[in-house]
Amino acid sequence: MKFSQMFIPTTKEVPKDATLPSHQYLIRGGFVNQVGAGIYNYLPLGKIVLDKIRAVVKEEMDNAGANEVQFGFVTPLSLWEESGRATTMGSELLRFKDRKNADYVLSPTNEEAVVDLVKNRITSYKNLPINLYQIYTKFRDEARPRFGLMRGREFLMKDAYSFHSCKEDLVREFDHMEETYKKIYTRLGLDFRVVAADSGAIGGSGSKEFMVLANSGEDTIVICPDCDYGANIEAAVRTKKEVKKWFDLTAVDLKMEKVLTEGMKTIEEVSNFLSTPKAQSIKAVIKKAIYEESNEIVVFFVRGDDQLEETKASNSVNCLELVDANDEEILNSGLCAGYCGPFNLPKDINFVVDSELKDEIGLVCGANEENYHFTGSDLSTLEDVKYFDLIAVQEGDICSCCKGSLEYTKGIEAGHIFQLGTKYSEAMDAKFLDENGKSQPFVMGCYGIGVSRLVAAVIEQNHDEKGGIWTKETAPFLVDVIVSNAKKDEELEAGMKIYNDLKTLGIDTIIDDRKKERFGFKMGDFELIGFPFAVVVGKKLKDGLVEIIHRDTLEKEEVEISKVSTILFEKIK
Ligand code: ATP
Ligand code: MG
Repeated sequence: MKFSQMFIPTTKEVPKDATLPSHQYLIRGGFVNQVGAGIYNYLPLGKIVLDKIRAVVKEEMDNAGANEVQFGFVTPLSLWEESGRATTMGSELLRFKDRKNADYVLSPTNEEAVVDLVKNRITSYKNLPINLYQIYTKFRDEARPRFGLMRGREFLMKDAYSFHSCKEDLVREFDHMEETYKKIYTRLGLDFRVVAADSGAIGGSGSKEFMVLANSGEDTIVICPDCDYGANIEAAVRTKKEVKKWFDLTAVDLKMEKVLTEGMKTIEEVSNFLSTPKAQSIKAVIKKAIYEESNEIVVFFVRGDDQLEETKASNSVNCLELVDANDEEILNSGLCAGYCGPFNLPKDINFVVDSELKDEIGLVCGANEENYHFTGSDLSTLEDVKYFDLIAVQEGDICSCCKGSLEYTKGIEAGHIFQLGTKYSEAMDAKFLDENGKSQPFVMGCYGIGVSRLVAAVIEQNHDEKGGIWTKETAPFLVDVIVSNAKKDEELEAGMKIYNDLKTLGIDTIIDDRKKERFGFKMGDFELIGFPFAVVVGKKLKDGLVEIIHRDTLEKEEVEISKVSTILFEKIK
C-alpha cells in the first residue's frame, strides 16, 4: 500500500482520558477512534491488525478441529431467562425492546445461543464431542469502560463452546484448548502466562486465564519463581501461614477475657495497646452482599495481618456483588464498627471466617461492644461457622506446590477457558442419549479470547516513548519504505523498486511516498505507528546505499540498495 492512498490520520494530540500507552498510541497512530464510551471505529491500519490477529486465532482453532459458526449478535431475552442469567448478568447485559414490544439483548457471550443451537440437533453420544466457535462482536455495558480497546463495551471476542458425553472428555478438550491458546499467543509474539482463575459469572469450575504480562495490566497475578504455579489473585492459594504464638500455650490457662480498649478501632491500635502481633488478632470486614432480589450485611473475618480478597468473599456467600456497608447500615444491623468479632454477634448476622483461622486459639478480636475487645479467644468453641478461603495471597507467602516465595506480577487477561459442566445444559434442558440409551445433559466447556483486547495488549507489552512496536504477526506492515523526498523522481523510483521487490518476496510493505510531508514527519509516523522495519531512501542513494532502521532498538544500518530486500527477507522470515 501507498501512504499517499491510505487514510492514516496520525496526530500529536493525546486524548485526555488516555493513560495507557496502548490507548494513546492506537489513537495517535490512526488505528482507532472513539465514537462513544467504550465504542471504537477501526481505521484502515487498525482493521488490518485486528484481521491479522483474527486470522491467527481462526487458523489455530480450525487446526484444533473446532467449527466456525456465527450467532446472531442480538438474542431474545427469553433464552437468558431459561438459563437464569437474565438476572445474574446484572447491568452488563444490555436489553431493549423491538417494535412489537418483545425483549432482546445484545450478546455479551453466547452460552445460551449455542445450547439452543445444539439442543435437539445433537441427540446421541455418537455425534459428540463437538466444538463450535465464532469470532464476533460482543456488547457488555461495562460499569467503567476504559483504557481504549482494553475494556470496551463493544469488542471482538473469539468464543468457543464444546459439548461432551462425559467429564473426562471435557478435560481432554480443555487441555487441548490450553495447548491451542498457547500456540496462538506464541505466534502473536506475546510474553504470557497461564494461570488458575476464578470462574466469575460464566460459572463452572477449573478455569484458566491467559495473561499477557504487562505492568499496566488490570489483574494481579501470583506466581512462584521456583515452579510453574501461577494464579489470578482472585483464585491464588498459599501454604497455611505459620504464625508464631506470642505466648507459651502450655504455660497458660487460656481464658477469653473482655478488655477495655477505649477508642481503639484498628488492628494497629489494639495490637500496640495489648503488645500483641497483628497476626494474633482477627480482623472484621463488614460488607453488604447484593443478591438478585435482596441485600444482606455480611461480616468476613480474616487474620489481622491478612487482607480480604473480594472475589473469594463474594463466592463464599454466592452473591452478585459485595459493596461497602455504610455507617447507618452497620448500626441498623446491630454491629459495632471497630469492635466487631465472631463471638456474641447479633443473632441473624451472616458471617464467614477464613479457613486458616479454623480452631485457632488465643487471638484478640472485637467483643461486639463499643470500646471492648476479647483476648484469649478459642475459635473451636464457635458453633455453625462457615469457613472459606477468603484471603488475598501476599508477596512472600509460601507456594503451596514447592515452598517457593510467591511474587506478584501484573497481567492483561487475554483469554479465559472454563470447564462449565452441565450448568447450562441442565438449565436449558439440553440432553443427548448415552451408550445405554439414557438421557443425559451435555457436559460443556467454553473458551474465550479477547481479539480486540489483544490489539491493545501487543502494544502494552511492546512500546517505547516514541510509539508502539508491532510484533511480526501483528504488524499492519512489516516494512515502511520511507522516500525521503518523494518530489525527487530518482528517490521515488528507487523506493518503488524496493517496495515491489519486498512485495514479491511476500513481505507486507507500505511505501511513504507522500510528496507534501518532510522526512522528519515521515520518521515520526514510522516511530509512532510502529512498523518493525523502515528502509530510508535518501541522500546516499547516489552512492547506491539505503538505510534499514529497526523499530525496536532504533538501530540503523547502511546497506547496498541491491541487497536490501534479501537482507530484510532474512531478518523477517
Ligand atoms: P474481565 O475480567 O477483564 O472483565 P471477563 O472475565 O469478563 O474479563 P470473559 O467473560 O472470560 O472475560 O471473556 C473472554 C475474554 O474476552 C476475556 O479474557 C477478555 O480477553 C475479553 N474481554 C472481556 N471483557 C472485555 C471488554 N470489556 N473489552 C475487551 N475485551 C474483553
Ligand atoms: Mg468482565
